[in-house]
Amino acid sequence: MSLLGIHHITAFAGDPQTNLDFFTKVLGLRFIKQTVNFDDVEHYHLYFADRIGTPGTVMTYFAHPGAKRADPACGQIDTVRLAIPAGSADAWAARLEQRNVAFERAGASPHTVLRLTDPDGLPLELHERDLAVERFEPWLNGDQQSDMAITGFSGVRMAVKDIEPSSTFLTNVLGLVHDESSDTSEGGKGTVLRVPMDHRKARIEVFKDSTRGRGRFGPGTVHHIAWRVADDAALMSWQARLSAEKVNVTDVRERKYFRSIYFREPGGIVFEIATDGPGFTADESEDNLGGSLQLPVWLEDRRAEIAPNLPPLTV
Ligand code: ZN
Repeated sequence: MSLLGIHHITAFAGDPQTNLDFFTKVLGLRFIKQTVNFDDVEHYHLYFADRIGTPGTVMTYFAHPGAKRADPACGQIDTVRLAIPAGSADAWAARLEQRNVAFERAGASPHTVLRLTDPDGLPLELHERDLAVERFEPWLNGDQQSDMAITGFSGVRMAVKDIEPSSTFLTNVLGLVHDESSDTSEGGKGTVLRVPMDHRKARIEVFKDSTRGRGRFGPGTVHHIAWRVADDAALMSWQARLSAEKVNVTDVRERKYFRSIYFREPGGIVFEIATDGPGFTADESEDNLGGSLQLPVWLEDRRAEIAPNLPPLTV
Protein backbone atom coordinates (compact mmCIF):
# COMPACT_ATOMS: atom_id res chain seq x y z
CA MET A 1 0.00 0.00 0.00
CA SER A 2 2.03 2.93 -1.28
CA LEU A 3 1.22 6.38 -2.49
CA LEU A 4 1.90 6.72 -6.24
CA GLY A 5 2.88 10.40 -6.39
CA ILE A 6 0.97 13.67 -6.66
CA HIS A 7 -2.61 13.40 -7.95
CA HIS A 8 -3.57 17.09 -8.14
CA ILE A 9 -2.96 20.44 -6.47
CA THR A 10 -5.80 22.87 -5.72
CA ALA A 11 -5.32 26.62 -5.29
CA PHE A 12 -7.48 29.76 -5.12
CA ALA A 13 -7.97 32.14 -8.04
CA GLY A 14 -9.72 35.48 -8.38
CA ASP A 15 -11.31 36.01 -11.79
CA PRO A 16 -12.04 32.61 -13.41
CA GLN A 17 -11.62 33.81 -17.02
CA THR A 18 -8.19 35.30 -16.27
CA ASN A 19 -7.19 32.04 -14.58
CA LEU A 20 -8.49 29.95 -17.49
CA ASP A 21 -6.75 32.08 -20.11
CA PHE A 22 -3.43 31.90 -18.25
CA PHE A 23 -3.41 28.12 -17.87
CA THR A 24 -4.54 27.43 -21.41
CA LYS A 25 -3.03 30.24 -23.50
CA VAL A 26 0.19 30.81 -21.55
CA LEU A 27 0.99 27.45 -19.93
CA GLY A 28 -0.63 25.41 -22.70
CA LEU A 29 -2.53 23.03 -20.45
CA ARG A 30 -5.96 21.75 -21.41
CA PHE A 31 -9.06 23.04 -19.60
CA ILE A 32 -10.52 19.62 -18.76
CA LYS A 33 -13.35 20.37 -16.37
CA GLN A 34 -15.64 23.18 -15.38
CA THR A 35 -17.62 22.41 -12.30
CA VAL A 36 -18.30 23.99 -8.90
CA ASN A 37 -16.66 23.47 -5.54
CA PHE A 38 -18.91 20.64 -4.31
CA ASP A 39 -18.66 22.07 -0.76
CA ASP A 40 -19.28 25.68 -1.87
CA VAL A 41 -21.46 25.59 -4.98
CA GLU A 42 -21.40 29.35 -5.59
CA HIS A 43 -17.82 29.11 -6.81
CA TYR A 44 -16.29 27.47 -9.86
CA HIS A 45 -13.84 24.61 -9.57
CA LEU A 46 -11.71 24.69 -12.73
CA TYR A 47 -9.32 21.88 -13.72
CA PHE A 48 -6.28 22.12 -16.01
CA ALA A 49 -4.18 19.14 -17.07
CA ASP A 50 -2.74 17.19 -19.98
CA ARG A 51 -5.09 16.06 -22.78
CA ILE A 52 -6.97 13.48 -20.72
CA GLY A 53 -6.47 14.62 -17.11
CA THR A 54 -3.75 12.16 -16.18
CA PRO A 55 -3.24 12.17 -12.39
CA GLY A 56 0.04 13.98 -11.72
CA THR A 57 -0.72 16.69 -14.32
CA VAL A 58 -3.87 18.17 -12.76
CA MET A 59 -3.83 21.74 -11.37
CA THR A 60 -7.18 22.97 -10.10
CA TYR A 61 -8.57 26.26 -8.84
CA PHE A 62 -11.47 27.44 -6.72
CA ALA A 63 -12.34 30.79 -8.32
CA HIS A 64 -13.45 33.60 -6.00
CA PRO A 65 -13.86 36.72 -8.15
CA GLY A 66 -13.37 39.92 -6.18
CA ALA A 67 -11.97 38.13 -3.11
CA LYS A 68 -8.99 39.65 -1.34
CA ARG A 69 -5.68 38.21 -2.43
CA ALA A 70 -3.50 36.40 0.09
CA ASP A 71 0.25 35.97 0.12
CA PRO A 72 1.51 32.39 0.43
CA ALA A 73 2.87 31.88 3.94
CA CYS A 74 3.71 29.40 6.65
CA GLY A 75 1.54 26.28 6.86
CA GLN A 76 0.97 26.30 3.11
CA ILE A 77 2.48 25.06 -0.10
CA ASP A 78 4.10 28.31 -1.22
CA THR A 79 5.51 27.22 -4.60
CA VAL A 80 4.15 24.86 -7.25
CA ARG A 81 6.75 23.38 -9.60
CA LEU A 82 5.82 22.12 -13.04
CA ALA A 83 8.09 19.93 -15.16
CA ILE A 84 9.05 20.94 -18.68
CA PRO A 85 11.23 18.81 -20.97
CA ALA A 86 14.99 19.29 -20.64
CA GLY A 87 16.12 21.65 -23.38
CA SER A 88 12.79 23.49 -23.63
CA ALA A 89 13.60 26.46 -21.35
CA ASP A 90 14.56 28.77 -24.24
CA ALA A 91 11.32 28.01 -26.05
CA TRP A 92 9.42 28.66 -22.80
CA ALA A 93 11.25 31.93 -22.20
CA ALA A 94 10.30 33.08 -25.70
CA ARG A 95 6.69 32.00 -25.19
CA LEU A 96 6.43 33.88 -21.88
CA GLU A 97 7.99 37.01 -23.40
CA GLN A 98 5.58 36.89 -26.35
CA ARG A 99 2.70 36.80 -23.90
CA ASN A 100 4.09 39.55 -21.66
CA VAL A 101 4.45 37.26 -18.64
CA ALA A 102 7.23 38.35 -16.27
CA PHE A 103 9.67 35.64 -15.20
CA GLU A 104 13.14 35.12 -13.77
CA ARG A 105 15.57 32.55 -14.99
CA ALA A 106 17.80 30.47 -12.69
CA GLY A 107 20.13 27.51 -13.16
CA ALA A 108 21.48 26.26 -16.47
CA SER A 109 20.39 23.70 -19.05
CA PRO A 110 19.38 20.91 -18.58
CA HIS A 111 18.25 22.09 -15.11
CA THR A 112 16.98 25.57 -15.92
CA VAL A 113 14.23 27.00 -13.72
CA LEU A 114 11.85 29.75 -14.87
CA ARG A 115 10.12 31.51 -11.97
CA LEU A 116 6.82 33.25 -12.53
CA THR A 117 3.47 33.65 -10.79
CA ASP A 118 -0.06 32.81 -11.72
CA PRO A 119 -2.36 35.84 -12.32
CA ASP A 120 -3.18 36.00 -8.58
CA GLY A 121 0.44 35.93 -7.43
CA LEU A 122 0.95 32.25 -6.57
CA PRO A 123 4.63 31.38 -7.25
CA LEU A 124 4.97 28.85 -10.06
CA GLU A 125 8.22 27.43 -11.41
CA LEU A 126 8.89 25.63 -14.65
CA HIS A 127 11.67 23.12 -14.05
CA GLU A 128 13.56 21.43 -16.83
CA ARG A 129 13.47 17.75 -15.92
CA ASP A 130 14.89 14.95 -18.00
CA LEU A 131 12.08 12.52 -17.29
CA ALA A 132 10.70 9.62 -19.25
CA VAL A 133 7.05 10.07 -18.31
CA GLU A 134 5.13 7.11 -19.58
CA ARG A 135 1.71 8.29 -18.38
CA PHE A 136 1.28 11.66 -20.04
CA GLU A 137 -0.57 12.88 -23.12
CA PRO A 138 0.39 16.37 -24.29
CA TRP A 139 -2.42 18.73 -25.26
CA LEU A 140 -1.61 19.94 -28.74
CA ASN A 141 -4.07 22.67 -29.59
CA GLY A 142 -2.01 24.22 -32.32
CA ASP A 143 -0.04 26.93 -30.48
CA GLN A 144 2.47 24.78 -28.64
CA GLN A 145 5.18 22.42 -29.83
CA SER A 146 4.87 18.88 -28.48
CA ASP A 147 8.46 18.93 -27.23
CA MET A 148 7.78 21.75 -24.77
CA ALA A 149 4.49 20.71 -23.15
CA ILE A 150 4.36 20.64 -19.35
CA THR A 151 4.63 16.97 -18.35
CA GLY A 152 3.14 17.29 -14.86
CA PHE A 153 4.24 18.30 -11.39
CA SER A 154 7.96 18.55 -10.74
CA GLY A 155 7.26 19.10 -7.06
CA VAL A 156 6.19 21.60 -4.43
CA ARG A 157 7.69 23.61 -1.63
CA MET A 158 5.95 23.17 1.72
CA ALA A 159 6.58 26.17 3.98
CA VAL A 160 6.40 25.08 7.63
CA LYS A 161 7.51 26.48 10.98
CA ASP A 162 9.56 23.38 11.82
CA ILE A 163 10.92 20.92 9.30
CA GLU A 164 11.24 17.92 11.57
CA PRO A 165 7.58 17.13 12.47
CA SER A 166 6.47 17.47 8.83
CA SER A 167 9.36 15.49 7.37
CA THR A 168 8.96 12.75 10.00
CA PHE A 169 5.25 12.49 9.20
CA LEU A 170 5.93 12.38 5.46
CA THR A 171 8.53 9.63 5.84
CA ASN A 172 7.23 7.55 8.76
CA VAL A 173 3.49 7.74 8.03
CA LEU A 174 3.17 8.50 4.31
CA GLY A 175 6.25 6.52 3.22
CA LEU A 176 8.21 9.24 1.41
CA VAL A 177 12.00 8.91 1.25
CA HIS A 178 14.83 11.42 1.12
CA ASP A 179 15.70 12.41 -2.43
CA GLU A 180 19.42 12.01 -3.02
CA SER A 181 19.32 13.49 -6.52
CA SER A 182 18.17 16.97 -5.55
CA ASP A 183 20.37 19.81 -6.64
CA THR A 184 20.50 23.45 -5.65
CA SER A 185 18.00 24.41 -8.33
CA GLU A 186 15.34 23.16 -5.91
CA GLY A 187 16.20 25.89 -3.43
CA GLY A 188 18.54 23.95 -1.20
CA LYS A 189 17.32 25.26 2.14
CA GLY A 190 14.99 22.47 3.09
CA THR A 191 14.72 18.71 3.25
CA VAL A 192 13.76 17.20 -0.10
CA LEU A 193 11.61 14.06 -0.17
CA ARG A 194 9.95 12.00 -2.86
CA VAL A 195 7.35 9.26 -3.18
CA PRO A 196 9.27 6.04 -4.02
CA MET A 197 6.64 4.77 -6.50
CA ASP A 198 6.30 8.12 -8.32
CA HIS A 199 7.47 7.75 -11.91
CA ARG A 200 7.49 11.56 -12.20
CA LYS A 201 10.01 11.71 -9.34
CA ALA A 202 8.35 14.85 -7.96
CA ARG A 203 10.44 16.54 -5.26
CA ILE A 204 8.66 17.55 -2.08
CA GLU A 205 10.72 20.25 -0.43
CA VAL A 206 9.98 20.83 3.25
CA PHE A 207 11.13 24.39 3.82
CA LYS A 208 11.66 26.06 7.20
CA ASP A 209 9.81 29.35 7.20
CA SER A 210 10.84 31.43 10.19
CA THR A 211 9.96 34.83 8.77
CA ARG A 212 6.31 34.62 7.85
CA GLY A 213 3.31 34.05 10.08
CA ARG A 214 0.61 31.45 9.56
CA GLY A 215 -1.01 32.03 6.18
CA ARG A 216 -4.66 32.58 5.37
CA PHE A 217 -6.43 31.36 2.26
CA GLY A 218 -7.32 33.56 -0.69
CA PRO A 219 -6.50 34.02 -4.38
CA GLY A 220 -2.75 33.44 -4.73
CA THR A 221 -2.51 30.55 -2.26
CA VAL A 222 -2.68 26.77 -2.46
CA HIS A 223 -5.54 25.09 -0.62
CA HIS A 224 -4.27 21.51 -0.66
CA ILE A 225 -2.17 18.85 -2.36
CA ALA A 226 -3.66 15.46 -3.21
CA TRP A 227 -1.64 12.26 -3.33
CA ARG A 228 -2.47 9.39 -5.70
CA VAL A 229 -3.66 5.92 -4.84
CA ALA A 230 -4.83 3.36 -7.37
CA ASP A 231 -8.28 2.48 -6.09
CA ASP A 232 -10.89 2.49 -3.31
CA ALA A 233 -9.25 -0.41 -1.47
CA ALA A 234 -6.01 1.55 -1.17
CA LEU A 235 -7.93 4.65 -0.08
CA MET A 236 -9.70 2.70 2.69
CA SER A 237 -6.38 1.24 3.82
CA TRP A 238 -4.91 4.72 4.08
CA GLN A 239 -7.91 5.95 6.03
CA ALA A 240 -7.48 3.08 8.52
CA ARG A 241 -3.76 3.64 8.76
CA LEU A 242 -4.07 7.37 9.37
CA SER A 243 -6.75 6.75 12.02
CA ALA A 244 -4.43 4.24 13.71
CA GLU A 245 -1.76 6.96 13.75
CA LYS A 246 -4.26 9.26 15.53
CA VAL A 247 -4.47 11.54 12.48
CA ASN A 248 -7.80 13.38 12.24
CA VAL A 249 -8.87 12.07 8.82
CA THR A 250 -12.25 12.64 7.13
CA ASP A 251 -14.66 10.04 5.87
CA VAL A 252 -14.43 9.11 2.19
CA ARG A 253 -15.79 11.92 -0.02
CA GLU A 254 -17.35 11.31 -3.44
CA ARG A 255 -15.66 13.76 -5.82
CA LYS A 256 -17.17 12.30 -9.03
CA TYR A 257 -13.80 12.08 -10.82
CA PHE A 258 -12.10 10.44 -7.82
CA ARG A 259 -12.83 9.56 -4.20
CA SER A 260 -10.90 11.28 -1.43
CA ILE A 261 -9.96 11.58 2.21
CA TYR A 262 -8.53 14.74 3.81
CA PHE A 263 -6.30 15.48 6.79
CA ARG A 264 -3.58 17.94 7.84
CA GLU A 265 0.11 17.22 8.19
CA PRO A 266 1.82 18.51 11.37
CA GLY A 267 2.84 21.81 9.71
CA GLY A 268 -0.83 22.61 9.03
CA ILE A 269 -0.93 21.95 5.28
CA VAL A 270 -4.11 20.29 4.01
CA PHE A 271 -3.43 16.91 2.42
CA GLU A 272 -5.85 14.79 0.40
CA ILE A 273 -5.46 11.23 -0.85
CA ALA A 274 -7.40 10.61 -4.08
CA THR A 275 -8.09 7.59 -6.27
CA ASP A 276 -6.93 7.49 -9.90
CA GLY A 277 -10.41 6.55 -11.06
CA PRO A 278 -13.01 6.97 -12.34
CA GLY A 279 -11.28 9.92 -14.01
CA PHE A 280 -12.38 13.00 -15.92
CA THR A 281 -14.26 11.15 -18.66
CA ALA A 282 -16.82 10.08 -16.05
CA ASP A 283 -19.27 12.68 -17.41
CA GLU A 284 -17.81 13.97 -20.71
CA SER A 285 -16.13 12.35 -23.68
CA GLU A 286 -12.42 12.95 -24.23
CA ASP A 287 -13.20 15.34 -27.09
CA ASN A 288 -15.60 17.43 -25.00
CA LEU A 289 -13.63 17.74 -21.75
CA GLY A 290 -14.09 21.18 -20.20
CA GLY A 291 -16.69 22.26 -22.75
CA SER A 292 -19.66 22.79 -20.45
CA LEU A 293 -20.62 23.06 -16.78
CA GLN A 294 -20.69 19.64 -15.14
CA LEU A 295 -22.44 18.99 -11.84
CA PRO A 296 -22.51 15.85 -9.71
CA VAL A 297 -25.79 13.97 -9.65
CA TRP A 298 -26.69 15.31 -6.20
CA LEU A 299 -26.44 18.92 -7.47
CA GLU A 300 -27.95 18.37 -10.91
CA ASP A 301 -31.48 19.18 -9.74
CA ARG A 302 -30.19 22.56 -8.50
CA ARG A 303 -28.59 23.45 -11.87
CA ALA A 304 -31.14 26.20 -12.61
CA GLU A 305 -30.24 27.82 -9.29
CA ILE A 306 -26.44 27.25 -9.46
CA ALA A 307 -25.54 28.02 -13.08
CA PRO A 308 -26.89 31.62 -13.31
CA ASN A 309 -24.80 32.64 -10.29
CA LEU A 310 -21.54 31.70 -12.03
CA PRO A 311 -19.82 34.23 -14.28
CA PRO A 312 -19.90 33.22 -17.97
CA LEU A 313 -16.71 31.62 -19.27
CA THR A 314 -15.29 31.76 -22.79
CA VAL A 315 -13.55 28.43 -23.32
ZN1 ZN B 1 -8.47 18.07 -4.13
